Amino acid sequence: MIRPIVLYGSPILRQKALKIEADDPDLNQLIKDLWETMYNADGVGLAAPQIGVSKQVFVVDARELQPPEEPPFRAVFINPRILDRAPVYTLQEEGCLSIPGIRERISRSSDIEVEYLDEDFSLHRQRFRGIVARIIQHEYDHLIGRLFIDYLSPIKRQLLRRRLRYIAAGEVEAHYPFAYAK
Ligand code: ZN
Repeated sequence: MIRPIVLYGSPILRQKALKIEADDPDLNQLIKDLWETMYNADGVGLAAPQIGVSKQVFVVDARELQPPEEPPFRAVFINPRILDRAPVYTLQEEGCLSIPGIRERISRSSDIEVEYLDEDFSLHRQRFRGIVARIIQHEYDHLIGRLFIDYLSPIKRQLLRRRLRYIAAGEVEAHYPFAYAK
């Protein structure tokens, strides 16, 4: 089911998401909804809080942005932990489906190690690089209540203040259903 994407200003985007238990009866449906909602919005990643569910799961499909020499990457991350961020950084433009219309260059580690469960609750410990590492860090941040605009300088944020206020008031246009969760 395609669910409305929760907009900037909604308190759920600032909350720490809860760990998922192996017997969570809603998990399969939640993962299906995340994929459907993400593809409908032409996104490359989506975290559960963005559809109003404060649980530690996100989906990533990086294929559209990956260079052709990389193996195509698509995965579900449950209860992820970033174990290591190598001090190698890249600066690249990012956007967020919860903050429509704003894109800014953000510096992130381009080499990370992540421990996570997949949809079958199998444990993975894996290194990621480049654009995949970037998307994972962006989505992981959603699970701890952090947004990409938090990394901007105070001056940059000041410049975006009006636009952010409009988004928080639901006065935006997007090509996908969205909601302002009070
Ligand atoms: Zn986002």
